[in-house]
Amino acid sequence: MTAVHVPGNPVIEAGQLVSTSPATGVEAGRLPVATDADVRRAVDRARAASEWWAGLGFTGRRERLLRWRALLAKRIEQLAELVHVEGGKPVADAIVEIVTAIEHIDWAARNAGRVLGPRRVRSRLILAEFSGHLEYQPYGVVGVIGPWNYPVFTPIGSAAYALAAGNAVVLKPSEYTPAVGQWLVDSFAEVVPEQPIFTAVHGLGDVGAALCRSGVNKLAFTGSTATARKVMAACAETLTPVLIEGGGKDAMIVDSDADLDAAAEACVWGGMTNAGQTCIGIERVYAVDQVFDTFVDKVVARAGRLTVGPEGTDIGPITMPGQVDVIRRHIEAAVSSGGRAVLGGPNAVQPPYVHPTVLVDVPEESAAVREETFGPTLTISRVRDADEAVARANALSYGLGGSVFGRRRAVAIARRLHSGMASVNSTLTFAGMSTLPFGGVGDSGFGRIHGEDGLREFGRAKAITRRRARSLLPSMTFERTPTDVARLVKVIKAMYGR
Ligand code: NDP
Repeated sequence: MTAVHVPGNPVIEAGQLVSTSPATGVEAGRLPVATDADVRRAVDRARAASEWWAGLGFTGRRERLLRWRALLAKRIEQLAELVHVEGGKPVADAIVEIVTAIEHIDWAARNAGRVLGPRRVRSRLILAEFSGHLEYQPYGVVGVIGPWNYPVFTPIGSAAYALAAGNAVVLKPSEYTPAVGQWLVDSFAEVVPEQPIFTAVHGLGDVGAALCRSGVNKLAFTGSTATARKVMAACAETLTPVLIEGGGKDAMIVDSDADLDAAAEACVWGGMTNAGQTCIGIERVYAVDQVFDTFVDKVVARAGRLTVGPEGTDIGPITMPGQVDVIRRHIEAAVSSGGRAVLGGPNAVQPPYVHPTVLVDVPEESAAVREETFGPTLTISRVRDADEAVARANALSYGLGGSVFGRRRAVAIARRLHSGMASVNSTLTFAGMSTLPFGGVGDSGFGRIHGEDGLREFGRAKAITRRRARSLLPSMTFERTPTDVARLVKVIKAMYGR
């Protein structure tokens, strides 16, 4: 293992992408950088293979995906160690991430046939002589572009569902976590050695851009909203459909009847797990006046106990060295515009680490409240009541997840959040429930992974009508008579004209 100069920043050496630990600079992986031609070749090979994969049917794919799931479960410690070394994530957090991914593979494999397979649909009186048939057919090749912060969970959230639906997948992992991406496709190839069904191409952003233009039949992107715009623009050239899982600035609302200990515990975890580098992480909190002071005290007490460092801690290093500057800027701007750090503050930024920071009285227009910070920081704001909390939570163009703590009104408040998901009396839990769809609104993206919607995202609806009998009300033919048309008018008036 060789050390490099800037821990965590990937480098390209002799055509190889070298990823390093953000904590120690130790090399984590070395993968060949793909050229445009390599990317096209990978997609062409995947397209040829996809016919074989689709031909296995739901049962054949289910059996293979369950074997892959079993392999991940057996090697969970090994994969968690790689996630830890390459991205700096504490091993326990990596384990939780992989457990969630395993759960999604299992559910997608077991439910794809039921959700996507051929079924009869009811016809209506107007075309009663026809039967309706619906099925969701695979696209062919799905390109998956993933971020570094959840290098197992996010690609698998798209890939497992795309594979279960009968597609081949070409993955472009983040340049910060290529070794984890390669581990995933290698483990899949162990259980599906016959064809290149799930493969990876490596490199910087230009390799992702090449994947968008490579002829993939659908592109599933997870990453920042800024890159999402570029991905959509590239995919627009060929009308390639896209799924966008973008960034977020998720809010938590603490109502007057909340269990404050539970809220504080969940808030600290939701905001600071993975050093706050979580798309659905809690970044801002709105607590109603009656409970604000007690709640802040409880959050500070808990967050203040978290340990920070390279090994065996609660909070690891910031994965992307450049992100430290963003976090520092947000904290400094918050404090210089009237905010108070009740824990941490500007001195909490000690690259590559950021210590837990809790900010109060931060103006709503501050970057710490409006932009993705992606660090172990929280802003907590005092609000009059739940209505004001909802209005402030909904004031941004992001809308990924959210959390509400309370009793009587909590579910009603969760429904009013301008977001694709919400957890009541917990944080982030919707991500692990494979039966629920995952995705955002507004700048956080569109389309869904996970659950039935997540399976349908990777299949094209195919509709077939089949004649069962002669038409009693012939209309879609030049053979119809004026009497037929008059009868049709009469029937329609009787059915719908009242
Ligand atoms: P980026 O948008 O920087 O990168 C995401 C992926 O896109 C990477 O693989 C990147 O490659 C690639 N990429 C970069 N430029 C292009 C391009 N022009 N065309 C195609 N692909 C490109 O995001 P991060 O990796 O920094 O991830 C953090 C972001 O992801 C946060 O905003 C977070 O909220 C969001 N996210 C959203 C989730 C969701 O489910 N909604 C889940 C997890 C994270 P490279 O790394 O080589 O530059």
